[in-house]
Amino acid sequence: MPDAEILAVGSELLGTQRLDTNSLYLTGKLNVLGVEVVQKCVVGDDRARLANEIAAALKRTEIVILSGGLGPTEDDVTRDAVAAALGRTQYQNADALAAIEERFKRLNRKMAEINKRQAMVIEGAEVLPNPRGTAPGQWIRTEDGRTVMLLPGPPTELKGMFEDQVQPRLEAMLPKQCIETVFYRIAGMGESDVDALIAPVYSKYMNPVTTILAGAGDIQLHFRARCSTVDEAKGLLAEVCPQIEKLLGDRIYSNDGASLEETVGKMLCAKNRTVAVAESATGGALGARMTAVPGSSACFKGGFITYTNEMKEKLLGVSSEVLAEYTEVSEKVALEMAKGVRERTGAYYGVAITGEAGPESGSGQPVGTFYVGVADETGFAEAKRYQFPGDRARLRQLGTQWALDLLRRRIVAG
Ligand code: AMP
Ligand code: MG
Repeated sequence: MPDAEILAVGSELLGTQRLDTNSLYLTGKLNVLGVEVVQKCVVGDDRARLANEIAAALKRTEIVILSGGLGPTEDDVTRDAVAAALGRTQYQNADALAAIEERFKRLNRKMAEINKRQAMVIEGAEVLPNPRGTAPGQWIRTEDGRTVMLLPGPPTELKGMFEDQVQPRLEAMLPKQCIETVFYRIAGMGESDVDALIAPVYSKYMNPVTTILAGAGDIQLHFRARCSTVDEAKGLLAEVCPQIEKLLGDRIYSNDGASLEETVGKMLCAKNRTVAVAESATGGALGARMTAVPGSSACFKGGFITYTNEMKEKLLGVSSEVLAEYTEVSEKVALEMAKGVRERTGAYYGVAITGEAGPESGSGQPVGTFYVGVADETGFAEAKRYQFPGDRARLRQLGTQWALDLLRRRIVAG
């Protein structure tokens, strides 16, 4: 299977105001066809620099895709740079010129002389019509079997041209591929721990390809098998995935892409149970996550944001002696908060978060110290201490993540 490389052309993409979004779109489309994007770059509007990059890309990658730089002005250099890199000439293509003239006529505008440049086509290229704009694209096959395509920069033009012109050509050119993917999401482990645990298994296989994506307290694992038939791809995954599942066990919380809050919500609904939350350091972020899931009213009762000790006492019944003796960032307080919110709301589960989100410590506990607690109707209650790394935003995110995971494990347990 050939690999692809993307060159996004435009000096504006090197500034602080504009992002290269075309390559993200192209990558998604190519992946579906089974083509991997192995490298991409942004190049300013500079003929020599771009020609160099194209020549280098053509030495190492089978499919080279250029986006942008097909306009009519001096700083639109993609055509010239590709011609230079391939050592080919350009000529004015009569059909391309007619299409541009037709477009101006239709829009009731006078065509400037410089627009004729957009009808310049590289020797041997197929012209890709662009009904959404002026600049036609170009599709070139090189003598050594590589493919170069020139696509317009404006995203709507690029997308339209890809779907109408490029995709059918790629489908005809590429071997038939089926891609099957298995996703896992994991809580309660860091990226390097996940990797150390599963590397002995996945490193034995080139197919499926393993990807590990790390978020704050949330790891995603993708296993992507590429084969000529669906059954073959499924067969490869059926060999690898059970080994992975065995190693990770109950740290896998979802295998359908669902987030932790969605997963917990589904589990609560399935058991017909409710939850209420008591939050200090996270200031409502746990409630926000749970209620971001549509239909959460079936299991989420509500909660208290008890940011001060006074509110912890008044709303949750945390004892002033415990606060004085252990500070608000303590196991005892997390337990009392979880029990208190459960009793006061009548929810089946109470979940609590208290911690030091920094940057200064208010309780005397080190920044990053968090306690999460869970209590349930059976009288069970537990709290766990975590020492998280990171800034305030990350600490708060990690607090909600571990609280949700503690609740998830409690639901599994009973
Ligand atoms: P061009 O084809 O270089 O004249 O680009 C025309 C317009 O498309 C400009 O406004 C660019 O900001 C936009 N554009 C060009 N390249 C990209 C890209 N890679 N991603 C998103 N927008 C782009
Ligand atoms: Mg440009």
